Amino acid sequence: SVSAANADCLFCKIVAGQLPADVVASTERVVAFRDIDPKAPVHVLVVPKEHHGDVAVLAAADPGLLAEVVALADRVAGDLADGQFRLIFNSGPHAGQSVFHVHGHVISGARLGWTPA
Ligand code: 5GP
Ligand code: ZN
Repeated sequence: SVSAANADCLFCKIVAGQLPADVVASTERVVAFRDIDPKAPVHVLVVPKEHHGDVAVLAAADPGLLAEVVALADRVAGDLADGQFRLIFNSGPHAGQSVFHVHGHVISGARLGWTPA
C-alpha cells in the first residue's frame, strides 16, 4: 500500500524514530522537524507520518491529511516566527524534490524574496 512505511525512505525512518530529527511539533498523523540544511531563519519540514510520494498523490489519497499538513505548517510558523510563511512542495526531481516522501517546506522568519528558479 502507498501508506505503508517504506524501508528505504529517509522520512519514514525519521517518523519511526530510526534516525534523529529536531522535531518542533507533531500531531497524531503529522510531524514537523527542522531541515538539516536551512535556507531561512525558520526552515521546517512538515511530513505526514504515512508514506505518500508527493503532494498530488497525498491530495488524491487523503485530502484531509494534506489539510492537516497545512494546519501544522501554520502552527509552526506561529510558534517559531510571526505566523507568516511560505509553504513549498517540490514535486519531481526537476522541481528540486530529492526525498520522495511528501513534505512541505515551511519557510518563515524573514521578509522573503521571490527567486523560484
Ligand atoms: P526536497 O529537495 O525533496 O524538496 O527537500 C528535501 C529536504 O530534506 C532538503 O531541504 C534537505 O536539506 C532535507 N534533508 C535531507 N536529509 C535530511 C535529514 O536527514 N534530516 C533533515 N532534518 N532534513 C534532511
Ligand atoms: Zn516514507
